[in-house]
Amino acid sequence: MEKEDKSDEFLGKFNECEQRFKAIFSLTSAATKIIDPNLTIIEVNDAFVDLMGYERSEICGTKIMEYACEEYKDAWKELQQAMWLHGKPDFKIDVCLKRKDGTLVWVHITTILFTDSGNKYAYTVLDDFTYLKDFEESQKRLNMSLEYSKMAVWELDLDSGKLIHTGDLANILGRSEEGGDLQKSDLIDCFIDGGNQALAELINSVSQTGHLEFSGRVVTSGVDSKWVNLHAKLGEGPTQSKVLMGTAKDISAEKQADRYKDDFISIASHELKTPVTVLSGTLQLMERIYPRENPRLSKLIDQANQSMKKINELIGDLLNASKMNEGQLHLQMRNFNISQAVEECCSQIDREGKHRIIVEGDTALDLYADSDRIQQVIVNFVNNAIKYAPDARDIRIRATDAGEKIRVAVIDSGPGIDEEKSLHLFDRYYRVDSEGSQYSGLGLGLYISSEIIKKHKGEIGVESKPGVGSEFWFTIPK
Ligand code: ADP
Repeated sequence: MEKEDKSDEFLGKFNECEQRFKAIFSLTSAATKIIDPNLTIIEVNDAFVDLMGYERSEICGTKIMEYACEEYKDAWKELQQAMWLHGKPDFKIDVCLKRKDGTLVWVHITTILFTDSGNKYAYTVLDDFTYLKDFEESQKRLNMSLEYSKMAVWELDLDSGKLIHTGDLANILGRSEEGGDLQKSDLIDCFIDGGNQALAELINSVSQTGHLEFSGRVVTSGVDSKWVNLHAKLGEGPTQSKVLMGTAKDISAEKQADRYKDDFISIASHELKTPVTVLSGTLQLMERIYPRENPRLSKLIDQANQSMKKINELIGDLLNASKMNEGQLHLQMRNFNISQAVEECCSQIDREGKHRIIVEGDTALDLYADSDRIQQVIVNFVNNAIKYAPDARDIRIRATDAGEKIRVAVIDSGPGIDEEKSLHLFDRYYRVDSEGSQYSGLGLGLYISSEIIKKHKGEIGVESKPGVGSEFWFTIPK
């Protein structure tokens, strides 16, 4: 009697166990299967069906190796043999399987041998890590394209100073690979010619500006050097710390090409200057020799003079830009009254009288600066207002006392400029609408202006709203 009770108890527990096993087998979110010693699939759960994309009836009765990608079959078979034939209780392997739709899925496999009613079976859990594989693949491709474009990606935690980066950053910054992990100081200190200090200041002020754009020279080996550009944006790290995310690019080739272009422009504009001066002189002579009574000739000379003026302005811009590049801008500093200077340089600008140039603000202010160069900047601003805002009647020139400095602004109510584009306005050769532009120009005027203002240790900028107008301004320390 007691024996019968024990056997009932055992059977009850056994059934309970089996039911629990079945429940876990079918409900678990991990893909699982049971195979026999011939590697034939006996049972699979819903997660396995979802993973492989086949119906349960299509899978059961087939052999698991049919789904394996060729390159994984040998290693997997060896482990199966060790388990089925040589008594190894379990094994683990990472393999790639083919789904019904032909796509691939990568899984960590864990297989355990078990016996049921005297027969051997194997229970397998398949853990999908395809997302990781895809991530690794895209990481590899990203690294390859970065390497190809001589670029590295980096992220600097502004709170902790921790720097993380892709592989090639050390090489781009001219550091040896063996130097260990790069730190914030490595990113800054590699720049020479004062670049390190300038970069450190830019990084310190990035919480206000929101972005960083910097190019400088780094030493590669011994005396060799190369040019590197850093471009970064302020963002938020995973722990809400402030991070600077950016790229580092070797721009030596672009710099070299720029140098060739600058040399060519410098030589060409110098060579053009002499014949153009002779032509201007000849035109003036013709104007004097031929009487004004001949209206046809008079009109032709006027037209030639207009074109000559344009050519002279363009050559002037090219020569000025070359001068700035070669660091040959020398200032003749003196005290002068700002409204007087404006009067001198702007009275002749709008000969047709289409615009009204209004000087306002603190007109009595004196500037200590190079008067000719400051007039050059104002004329450029005003000429641009006339050129790009032809329908705006009033152009305002406003002088203000701004504490430590004097601010001068030229304000128009023209078409304005998009914020994104206005960031580049002071770059060399930059034109907002370079291809379809109806206005002629070389994109040098604002670059020259900014070099002049920088040389005065002042600041230059623009505030503009599309459809409302633009305010081009500069400041000069008192
Ligand atoms: P350029 O006039 O020769 O193109 P600049 O350096 O003087 O070169 O100006 C750069 C660009 O800035 C111009 O191409 C123009 O698109 C834009 N710009 C300058 N001033 C104004 C303005 N007042 N209103 C609108 N756009 C302007």
